[in-house]
Amino acid sequence: MNHNEAPTPWICHVCDTKGTGESLVCSNCFKVCCAKHLKHVTSYNPESGLYQLMPVCLDCAIRETIR
Ligand SMILES: [Zn+2]
Ligand SMILES: [Zn+2]
Repeated sequence: MNHNEAPTPWICHVCDTKGTGESLVCSNCFKVCCAKHLKHVTSYNPESGLYQLMPVCLDCAIRETIR
């Protein structure tokens, strides 16, 4: 039997799209989402005093904007 390594399927928590292969994880809520719903936002890191690009899902991006 030839058992190929199947990539772990994941589901975007924003749009419920199923995906395989590389999954993207929000750096704020640590949920998995697709490339469409993950954007990189600049976030200030008080420890290093630098602005960093953080992958953040649409859910969290909207929450930040409203707040
Ligand atoms: Zn999505
Ligand atoms: Zn998030």
